[in-house]
Amino acid sequence: MSVFEKARRIVIKVGSSSLTYDTGMVNIRQIEKLCKILSDIKNSGRQVILVTSGAIPVGASKLGLAAKPTTMPEKQAAAAAGQCELMYIYDKHFLEYHHKVAQILLTRDIIEKDELRTHAVNTFETLLKLGAIPIVNENDTIAVDEIRFGDNDTLSAIVASLTKADGLILLSDIDGLFEENPKDNPDAKIIPLVTEIDDHIRSIAGGAGSNRGTGGMATKIAAAEICFSCGCSMAIINSSRFETLYDILEGKQVGTLFERR
Ligand code: GLU
Repeated sequence: MSVFEKARRIVIKVGSSSLTYDTGMVNIRQIEKLCKILSDIKNSGRQVILVTSGAIPVGASKLGLAAKPTTMPEKQAAAAAGQCELMYIYDKHFLEYHHKVAQILLTRDIIEKDELRTHAVNTFETLLKLGAIPIVNENDTIAVDEIRFGDNDTLSAIVASLTKADGLILLSDIDGLFEENPKDNPDAKIIPLVTEIDDHIRSIAGGAGSNRGTGGMATKIAAAEICFSCGCSMAIINSSRFETLYDILEGKQVGTLFERR
């Protein structure tokens, strides 16, 4: 059995570009599908934690700001406006399948401050015990540089480590990690399995992500390193078909699997 087939507790991270259109507005079809599939996965007996991006683009379009706000106060205002819209949508769709959700907003200081970390861990554990789906994002309103995760790839790996999850799945706008950038070489081959993060892997992961998200491949590799250090497996799969989540949980080969052996 593969790690993901056996996984009881999984963290799933979805990026802004998978949840929003170029306009910054919510991609309703995508979010509905995601909520349906995650509800089904939860019904099958697994614990699900969702790490979601999208607050900034959704809030920017809601407040009539530029698609990608540049100043910190505008980003924070956009996040505040977008976060409640996102949670409203998640709450509504998960409720259709009789699942309760809870919002957790984190900043990086939970890593260094034992007391904050303990509170966060207790909150996750209690919510999971009560059958809720914790939905996590960065607390962008108070996240100044010193306490920022900056990207949700890192945040999701920290969440996987805090909650001792068995697996982290990054839903991305790319199929996985490629030997070369597929934008430069359309014949570039995907790497199906990574068992060690070495300089070669780090070097092919350079480069930035899409217009709406903040992560690129480099932040995903950093996330894999955090996962490896806490015994969690990770996968990168394409979010264009959320059904692929079923494939990976059935042990099929999709995307890139990061598994320490
Ligand atoms: N916290 C940001 C947002 O909700 C996302 C950061 C990221 O995409 O990595 O918009």
